[in-house]
Amino acid sequence: MNAVDMISKKQAGKAHTLSEIEHFIQGYTRGDVLDAEMSAWLMAVYFKGMNDEEIIALLKAMINSGKQMNFQRLPNFVADKHSTGGVGDKVSIILGPLMASVGLAIPMISGRSLGHTGGTLDKLESIPGYRTDLPLRHFRQIVEEVGISMIGQTNKICPADKKMYALRDATSTIHSIPLIVSSIMSKKIAEGIQGLVIDLKVGAGAFMHDMEEANELAEKLKMAGEYFGVSTNIIFTNMDQPLGEYAGLWCEIKECIQALQGKGSDDLMDVTYTLGNSLLLQSKIAKDKEEAENIQRRHLSNGSAYKKFVEMVKAHGGDPSFIENPDMYKKPRYVGELTANHDGYIVSMDTFQIGLSVNDLTILHHHGKRNKDNSGGIRFHKKIGEQVKKGQVIATCFGNEKSRVNRIKSKLTKTIKIGETPPPPLVLFL
Ligand code: URA
Repeated sequence: MNAVDMISKKQAGKAHTLSEIEHFIQGYTRGDVLDAEMSAWLMAVYFKGMNDEEIIALLKAMINSGKQMNFQRLPNFVADKHSTGGVGDKVSIILGPLMASVGLAIPMISGRSLGHTGGTLDKLESIPGYRTDLPLRHFRQIVEEVGISMIGQTNKICPADKKMYALRDATSTIHSIPLIVSSIMSKKIAEGIQGLVIDLKVGAGAFMHDMEEANELAEKLKMAGEYFGVSTNIIFTNMDQPLGEYAGLWCEIKECIQALQGKGSDDLMDVTYTLGNSLLLQSKIAKDKEEAENIQRRHLSNGSAYKKFVEMVKAHGGDPSFIENPDMYKKPRYVGELTANHDGYIVSMDTFQIGLSVNDLTILHHHGKRNKDNSGGIRFHKKIGEQVKKGQVIATCFGNEKSRVNRIKSKLTKTIKIGETPPPPLVLFL
């Protein structure tokens, strides 16, 4: 079936066969199916959806668009973590080295920023010298020798996801359960893992806005994991406000360094430990949650998780002196402060708009080219429920382009609301 027929069939709400999907994805990976054709098909899927057989067929085709890793000869439990996307969500960069320091092997393939959400890959690339585009041979070697490697989708592993991911970002076709499931699970299954924990973000700053949608996504992710024999645990976490203290690129790496040195904020560490507990139980390294959390705390306090992170950065060509002394990093040229205009409590944050603002400060699109301002980001001095006094700084935004910083500063005023009375406590785990 040619691309136009594929588009019409999905527009009519009909189900594709396995071979139609396989053929279409192969054609797109080779370059025979054009971006315009794929965009139209993605839009048709966005509106008409896919049944479970189609999701599995799409997933298989995306995995088969590249190579699959195999770590069977390693004695370690091979596992990974993935998030469905959030704002200030830097957990992978803390949890990956932490799990590797405990003895898991973590071959992690991450993505760039998608829509209003941040991308682990963009954040890692803010570390001077860090390469996310290593050849597979090198990726494997780092996983085997260091215990963890974090790279991006490559032309060798899930090249179809690499192309479709960028297209979905450009065509507003991200928010689609079949497309999210195939994108996440193709990368994870191609990694050759045994266990997986997914942080399924729910709320204003997530792709899933309520528990009904989130449960549907969870069910499909688990179905895909089971089909490919990967133990998949799902943890639902709240994304009604950014996670941790910073959202941006280098500023998030700096926050991860602090967390790996045992100085992470409570919300960030609660999510990290809960996801880590899942992996330590799956791997049978811990027999219960209490033991799992004690192991994690020990590996943070004795410095082994931090050491593992430095080892990974070095193995990727990154300059460890910036990790050891983050203040060496060039400071952003412009800073804008948002202050409280009256006394009260932070009652809500429009995390979707905050995410867009972070991406506006950090991901610069010029004539179709994607450049980055690694120094850009936002610091949240106050979070939901905290008391503020008139004139107190509640957030700062920063970056190297004055006009952007000014624009985001005035936008932030409308995204963080101060009320007279404290709001009900925000529940982190849903
Ligand atoms: N993360 C991914 O890798 N893909 C998506 O579609 C959403 C989050």
